Amino acid sequence: MRRLGRAVGALEEPAVEKIAKDQKEDPFQVLIATMLSAQTRDAVTHAASTRLFRVARTPRTMGRLPVDEIERLIYPVSFYRHKAVHVQATCEQILSRFGGRVPDTMDALLTLPGVGRKTANLVLILAHQSPDNICVDTHVHRISNRLGWVITRTPDETEQALYRVVPRKWWPLVNLYLVTWGQNVCRPVYPRCDVCVVADLCPRIGVRKP
Ligand code: SF4
Repeated sequence: MRRLGRAVGALEEPAVEKIAKDQKEDPFQVLIATMLSAQTRDAVTHAASTRLFRVARTPRTMGRLPVDEIERLIYPVSFYRHKAVHVQATCEQILSRFGGRVPDTMDALLTLPGVGRKTANLVLILAHQSPDNICVDTHVHRISNRLGWVITRTPDETEQALYRVVPRKWWPLVNLYLVTWGQNVCRPVYPRCDVCVVADLCPRIGVRKP
């Protein structure tokens, strides 16, 4: 983690991290950007979030937008129709059930439409500064298994396994480091093991085409 931390400093940050910093860790904008980011390239997520936040930055203003307007603003993120419905429904629930504030517990976040553990963990880490969460997406799942930190089949299994093997002080940084590494070096296909700063520590489990 120390080596990765030094190396990722020189690389482009993931879109949601960038949005969280730009928006001063505003929980609502972190939540919406994370919802938009699922299965979507970072540049697309960043552009779509920027367009949406230019029109509406709060649950009240965003919840008033018609779904087709949200669709238009967030296109071409993946599943933009589903996401537009979830964004609007989430705004309504934040207003009606949580007094206009994004909840700060896992259980409450998981009751929002379209919010799974990945989104909830990232909101808790980036917007509520939780030191108690690890956010696992496809990059974290893949790289943790390649490195041999865990032997798991799904991101949810990986999250639980990582709580057991990663020292607690690194928990909030696992996502930032491994997502950045996964986008730039330890890519899904053809990982760049020849330039990897942890190559000498990595058993490259499951890597067939470095
Ligand atoms: S050595 Fe290769 S497989 Fe291992 S972390 Fe680095 S890029 Fe990924």
